[in-house]
Amino acid sequence: MPDPFYESGLPRVLSRPERLLDRLVHALLPAPCLGCGRPLPAAGAPLNLCAVCRAALVPNPRQACAVCLRPLAAHALPEGYRCGACQQSPPAFDRLIALWSYQPPLDAVVRGLKFGRLDYLGRHLAEALAAGLGPRLAKHDRVVPVPLHWRRRLARGYNQAERIARPLAGRLGLPCVQALARRRGTPPQSLLGREERLVNLRKAFRVPRPEGVRGLHVLLVDDVATTGATLDAAATALKKAGAVAVTALVAGRTPLEPVLGDRGEDPTE
Ligand SMILES: [Zn+2]
Ligand SMILES: [Zn+2]
Repeated sequence: MPDPFYESGLPRVLSRPERLLDRLVHALLPAPCLGCGRPLPAAGAPLNLCAVCRAALVPNPRQACAVCLRPLAAHALPEGYRCGACQQSPPAFDRLIALWSYQPPLDAVVRGLKFGRLDYLGRHLAEALAAGLGPRLAKHDRVVPVPLHWRRRLARGYNQAERIARPLAGRLGLPCVQALARRRGTPPQSLLGREERLVNLRKAFRVPRPEGVRGLHVLLVDDVATTGATLDAAATALKKAGAVAVTALVAGRTPLEPVLGDRGEDPTE
């Protein structure tokens, strides 16, 4: 997804007082529903969505690859069935879990979190993830957010993945650790071709203190999965550092065309 602050060249950096004022304004003004624009109750609403829009959140298709969640066109698949791509070259994460399909109105919530400075939506998403998936998530040892490129973090004032990961870890009673770091300034992915993008991504993450994840089951958290390439690259670094298992968790998975056997050409991340 294009980042208007980032794509426009130099990031717009808010000063600390500006950020505080920004948060105060968001806290005081009654917000409209992010899905349909109708006014919300003064006390606010989960995900800044009205009840109608919350009911319109789309679950992931049931017939999907057990690893990457790509929908599969078959009718009856055995439990744990993997798509052809995951059978041939599985990603570094053991499985991807998504609460919803990334389409309206979830896209508006995620845009609000990423570009609208509504950082509290991270907590709302964490609560939804814990309520919807709690028992599947609690068996991990550590919660690790996907780090943001420093320039984006500077422009945004926070890392949206961390805004989801921290309250989620709190709800699950697990430690949240910033185990991953971005390796260096890499050119914007949008300027690169698909192959370069993958090579570039594969080297993007490192684990500065491997002892923090060695021998552990890691719950790797991001807001959205598109191709899964970012999560794959982050999981590769965690596994290299000695993590025994990595579950990738996102609020939304970009809907992909159903396939039988092959992952096909994913849209770019
Ligand atoms: Zn609504
Ligand atoms: Zn798959």
